[in-house]
Amino acid sequence: THFGFKRVKQSEKPQKVYEVFEKVAIDYDKMNDVMSLGIHRLWKDYFMCSLSPTDNTKLLDVAGGTGDISFRFLNFLKTNNLKNCHVTVCDINPHMLEVGKVRSEKLNYDQNLISWKEGNAEELDFEDNSFNAYTISFGIRNCTHIHKVLAEAYRVLKPGGRFMCLEFSHLEYSYAQWLYDQYSFQVIPVLGQVLAGKWQPYQYLIESIRQFPTQENFKLMIEEAGFRQVSYENLTLGMVAIHTGFKL
Ligand code: SAM
Repeated sequence: THFGFKRVKQSEKPQKVYEVFEKVAIDYDKMNDVMSLGIHRLWKDYFMCSLSPTDNTKLLDVAGGTGDISFRFLNFLKTNNLKNCHVTVCDINPHMLEVGKVRSEKLNYDQNLISWKEGNAEELDFEDNSFNAYTISFGIRNCTHIHKVLAEAYRVLKPGGRFMCLEFSHLEYSYAQWLYDQYSFQVIPVLGQVLAGKWQPYQYLIESIRQFPTQENFKLMIEEAGFRQVSYENLTLGMVAIHTGFKL
């Protein structure tokens, strides 16, 4: 335990995660900006550049929440004048999806290019071989069984399709990790309390980051799910990592 916070039991995790995102949905976008000092925007921009979709890309954005990745996808289509593309945002939490839908209308995105679907990453309600690309951004560590998520990603991707994951990870230098831990355990819950009136969900989020596998171990898990050409790239000293692989 850290600072008196108990580890979440596997069996209680889905309920706990649901409650966390139900509570934070309305403040989610603001809190992301404050807590990462806006840097999450750069990570997500870079993530979309790494994916670099082309014409005819059918993207599935799992744990898509309030739409940060899918909106970047739609921006990319517009800037690069891509044809025949579509994104499906899938998330287990209807409150997050609702915030996303309202946002997409406010931001005037073409509603024909995006669809929203409630669903569990561990048990996707999509046919085999349906998408060219699968993204999951800051979502997989909230899932109870990572291997099920990866197996489902593999199943719904078409042959040749690409898996891409953006997730908090482990820092390359131990002194940097120490500083980062001080920031996260002492500052983040306080910010949560002061700005959103709740600290527990934010403490959960930090704990889940610590428990997530290292870059190398996660890479092995992706390979075990059947993906090929698996690689990863650390951003900001490993604060986050992008893992990618192909269904070949
Ligand atoms: N992808 C968005 C982003 O990058 O801003 C949202 C990330 S948010 C930190 C994590 C999301 O994962 C939440 O919206 C939560 O509801 C969703 N989630 C948690 N467990 C899930 C599961 N088993 N299946 C699908 N979504 C899940």
